[in-house]
Amino acid sequence: MREIDVEQVKDTVSDLCVRANYHLPDDVMDVLKRATEEEESPVGREVLELIIENAETASAEEMPICQDTGSAVIFLDVGQDVRFVGGDLEEAINRGVAEGYEAGYLRKSMTVDPFQRDNTGDNTPAIIHTQIVPGDQVRIVVAPKGGGSENMSAARGLTPADGPEGVKDFVVDTVSRAGSNPCPPIIVGVGVGSTLEKAVLLAKKALIRPARKPHPEEHIAELERDTLAAVNDLGIGPQGLGGRTTALAVHIEPHSSHIASLLAAVNIQCHAARHAEATL
Ligand code: SF4
Repeated sequence: MREIDVEQVKDTVSDLCVRANYHLPDDVMDVLKRATEEEESPVGREVLELIIENAETASAEEMPICQDTGSAVIFLDVGQDVRFVGGDLEEAINRGVAEGYEAGYLRKSMTVDPFQRDNTGDNTPAIIHTQIVPGDQVRIVVAPKGGGSENMSAARGLTPADGPEGVKDFVVDTVSRAGSNPCPPIIVGVGVGSTLEKAVLLAKKALIRPARKPHPEEHIAELERDTLAAVNDLGIGPQGLGGRTTALAVHIEPHSSHIASLLAAVNIQCHAARHAEATL
């Protein structure tokens, strides 16, 4: 059994919160640059260039890419041969978030209660998703998520007869309703199958896949391409000012399904598609 001190997890989470908010991943920068070359609308191109310039400046100057530095969404893949020592893991993660958001001058956006809107003051609690995996390592991904794009996400119970076309229509309808609210160009995470809560989690996880990396199964990759084309036919464009680039990518994560069900969830990610990861 490999022992990992929760203080090491705390320090790593703190560092990742800052890194994720300052530096867009290379794959996201690459698709933004490709979109600028492909965009037909002059205004759309200009907006994309500004988004890239903003991200490059944030990275060079070590400052947040956006004023909304997000909820601290954290994925933990915990090797089954790991034993955490030195304290409470969840408490350590939250201390890491509090420390990182303070050290990085990041906005604190979490409320104590969804109705009584007092701010917790340190951006905790983190939204933590833990998965047990083989091995003796821990992979930590911090993916700050802005409210503007999260608010536009949706889930729906389709019928098996709706099939891939039904999923595509649901995604297009969700993006169409969202319009300019989620700060396009967006990345669309889609979870399909399983149960409601799993489909929603898959949709979120789909967002941390490298941008435009197709799903390994060809029929899913084909649905990703078709759905991306249909979304971009909406013409919402960068920041809603018109153009071809409403979405940079559609990532679909399928899962086995009950014979009577076809659950689908859409998680919309704005152009500030932030995430940073480390392995302990
Ligand atoms: S949706 Fe994204 S880009 Fe828009 S304000 Fe929120 S975090 Fe910033």
